[in-house]
Amino acid sequence: MSVHPVSTCTPGSVATAPLEVLGRDVRVPLVTGGEVTYAALDYAASAPALQRVWDDVAAYAPYYGSVHRGAGYLSQLSTDLFEQSRATVADFLGCREGDQVVFTRSTTDSLNLLASVLPAGTQVFVFETEHHASLLPWRDARVTYLTAPRTPEQAVASLEAALAQRDPYGPALVCVTGASNVTGELWPVRELADAAHAHGARIVLDAAQLAPHHPVDIAELDVDWVAFSGHKLYAPFGSGVLAGRADWLQEAEPYLAGGGASRKVARRADGGVDVEWHSTAARHEAGSPNVIGVYSIASACRALTEAGFDSLVEREQGLVTRVRAGLAGVPQVRVLSLFGDDAPRVGVISFVVDGWNSSHFAAALSAEYGIGVRDGLFCAHPLVRTLLGSEPTEPGECGSPETEPGEKSLNAIRVSFGAGT
Ligand code: PLP
Repeated sequence: MSVHPVSTCTPGSVATAPLEVLGRDVRVPLVTGGEVTYAALDYAASAPALQRVWDDVAAYAPYYGSVHRGAGYLSQLSTDLFEQSRATVADFLGCREGDQVVFTRSTTDSLNLLASVLPAGTQVFVFETEHHASLLPWRDARVTYLTAPRTPEQAVASLEAALAQRDPYGPALVCVTGASNVTGELWPVRELADAAHAHGARIVLDAAQLAPHHPVDIAELDVDWVAFSGHKLYAPFGSGVLAGRADWLQEAEPYLAGGGASRKVARRADGGVDVEWHSTAARHEAGSPNVIGVYSIASACRALTEAGFDSLVEREQGLVTRVRAGLAGVPQVRVLSLFGDDAPRVGVISFVVDGWNSSHFAAALSAEYGIGVRDGLFCAHPLVRTLLGSEPTEPGECGSPETEPGEKSLNAIRVSFGAGT
């Protein structure tokens, strides 16, 4: 099977990527014989790690030791680097005085942590267009799901209207993504934050797709918390961040109970155990932390800051324009968009190809051209179904539902790229 439509894309060369990433020269076999250099176009799932991050980790690895636990020199060194990494991330995010940076496993973990510290009775407001990581963790709260807006202004108006109906005395939280992992479109974060605050609600920004492409400044965006993942920010897998207001974090029970989160533990005369938990970020970082992961995130933050977001954004926007122009030249292709063609977006583009099953198309791109993209519903089922105009079919269908040629697509193809492309 041959993927002819892509051959009509605009040819041309792109300036060298500003940041060197791992795996750039990986050669992959093709079904047609021979091999090509792999084209990694699935940054939205996991971006390749920066060579610079890898080098930093390699330089540090021989010296690493337990954090916050050892008296030895290497433990002290690791503890210093761990805490310096926290300060680096706080700088990267423009944290305010008193904000906490908690290290987690990922964005999903960060948002589940926040969900676990919500004060009793918190009302949560979330758009149905969210990635499942920001759509689903609020199950124990009273959740209002807002329908998909078709413009950024509609998003703000719809949030305003929902918040106006809320119980004005209880706590409330809005959860919103900064850049969609499906359409790449930027959401009006500052305007949504203003609306939330005007109604006495707080707001958490899911910056999983925004932080790798744009500066994220907590104070400037006036959001209460930011969550992101290291593996989308050019660091390896396994580490993430939740940064923001300390109060809800300090007042709640620890996310995980255990060593590191506890300051003092004593047996009681009645046979029980009394625990005094830390009030710092350590409260939610029980267990031995992912020191290498945390160090990698800080290294990636430094690399992005030094490269400068202005030039990164400018180059990426050139790529976005080029890819979209190429796709626009293929009549069978429909690019998915919520806010319209002119909406500002990051390097994440999803589309369907008329007459093609998206899963077969993506598989053929890999097998015949060595191009790695993603197919499916991108863990944002309600949004992708809205964009495709399709109905839910079988539960659990996430990756690659089958369609007959010519049938309406049940899933899509996603191309995503970034500073290493
Ligand atoms: N939020 C968005 C917008 C995402 O795109 C993703 C992952 O694709 C997540 C959250 C979850 O990130 P992770 O899998 O690293 O927890």
